[in-house]
Amino acid sequence: VWNNCLSFIEDNITSQAYKTWFEPIKAVKLAENALSIQVPSKFFYEWLEEHYVKLLKVALTKELGTTAKLVYVIKMENTYGNKQPFTEKIPSSNRSQVKSQDVDVPLKNKSPELKNPFVIPGIRNVKIESQLNPNYNFENFLEGESNRLARSAGLAVANKPGGTSFNPLLVFGGVGLGKTHLAHAIGVDIKDKYPEKTVLYISAEKFTQQYIESVKKNNRNDFIHFYQIIDVLIVDDIQLLSGKAGTQDVFFHIFNHLHQNGKQVILTSDKAPVDMIDIEQRLLSRFKWGLSAELNHPDYDTRVAIIKNKLYRDGVEMPEDIIEFLANNIKTNIRELEGAIISLIAHSSFNKKDITIDLAKNIVDNYVKHTKREVSIDYIQKVVSEYFQMDVDTLQSKTRKRHIVQARQLAMFFAKKFTKASLASIGSQIGQRDHATVLHACKTVDNLSSTDKQFRKYVEDLQKKLTL
Ligand code: ADP
Ligand code: MG
Repeated sequence: VWNNCLSFIEDNITSQAYKTWFEPIKAVKLAENALSIQVPSKFFYEWLEEHYVKLLKVALTKELGTTAKLVYVIKMENTYGNKQPFTEKIPSSNRSQVKSQDVDVPLKNKSPELKNPFVIPGIRNVKIESQLNPNYNFENFLEGESNRLARSAGLAVANKPGGTSFNPLLVFGGVGLGKTHLAHAIGVDIKDKYPEKTVLYISAEKFTQQYIESVKKNNRNDFIHFYQIIDVLIVDDIQLLSGKAGTQDVFFHIFNHLHQNGKQVILTSDKAPVDMIDIEQRLLSRFKWGLSAELNHPDYDTRVAIIKNKLYRDGVEMPEDIIEFLANNIKTNIRELEGAIISLIAHSSFNKKDITIDLAKNIVDNYVKHTKREVSIDYIQKVVSEYFQMDVDTLQSKTRKRHIVQARQLAMFFAKKFTKASLASIGSQIGQRDHATVLHACKTVDNLSSTDKQFRKYVEDLQKKLTL
């Protein structure tokens, strides 16, 4: 019976969809007019319900008549080998009742039967490494006005993962303000308190790569299932999903599954949800379900405390006036603050010199140079070509390939904006014939940034990098 249903279904949907959603199904039982099919997960069941219920109904009715019933059996995924396989029962949720009313034939009878599914214990045995950095913990994450809300929300989540209204917890803020550190700290703390929970830290970039890989290898399903057995999912730099529709879609389903099952989701982003570009509305609205907490620039006292803590941990001493000098001069990026300290220590020990104010001035100059000094055209070309993953020669070449032309025009635009060089001089330094090319580039960038979202994001990203 099921085979006949399958060939009917196969004829009616794309082969990719068929492979993904129907090949993994096994028919396990046929009793009178009730067919039991085994699906790999609850998510899988929900997906079928949402997308293929009509098709299934038609296929089944053709085979078994109008009294046909469908029973879903969920194959369980067992996270830890030493545990009893557990069974998951699908409650007859409101959602599925509403759904089944749409279906006017006896398929709707499946809901009560789902309460008592016939379950085949799972065979999977997955142990997931958390990918957490133990040095990024709460103890090292100093509290200050700038991070108080985010930090205490993080602690609350760590105490009761999935059990607070902070789900998802979205931590957002500028570069180097502690998003990654805080995200790890929450995970580390949860692992401490709840060792049995499966925690996973992943950057949005890696998540995207994994997803693309899974699509290539035709195991998108395994990818989804892998993420669905996680208790605490931490995704760093979620803004990187911008413009990636496929990844956003799969993340949306994973997110829903986890959220519905009371699992905790923690996200970080370099901007607030309202400012995110090219992220689907339905995802943005999910992000707002929980709490968005901002990490702000640390105030003076917090900067001093962070410096002292860092010195203490590295076992280094530094005169008070130098600490104050650093705290006074590096204000907007804790990573730069740490970088300056490290480089100060390195210089002084390498040259066997004391740490002096002069040395500190020198180093701070390097760290905050782009706000103080004029940005050079060379530097702009370097930043732009790095951003678009090409080398400077390509950027300067005569090619008309669109993305290279765009990169070149952006370089000219920023050269005009950030340097005092003349149009002609910008043109010749970026390998162009004359000032008209540069003028045209500036106009094009202006136009495109007001009409093309993706392009505007390029401009914003680059602007940030150049003024860092
Ligand atoms: P982001 O992910 O926001 O760019 P990171 O989490 O990578 O920033 O933080 C940059 C550096 O600053 C890290 O080394 C981190 O340990 C340190 N840092 C950030 N916030 C704090 C804090 N509140 N206390 C101590 N160190 C911090
Ligand atoms: Mg980070």
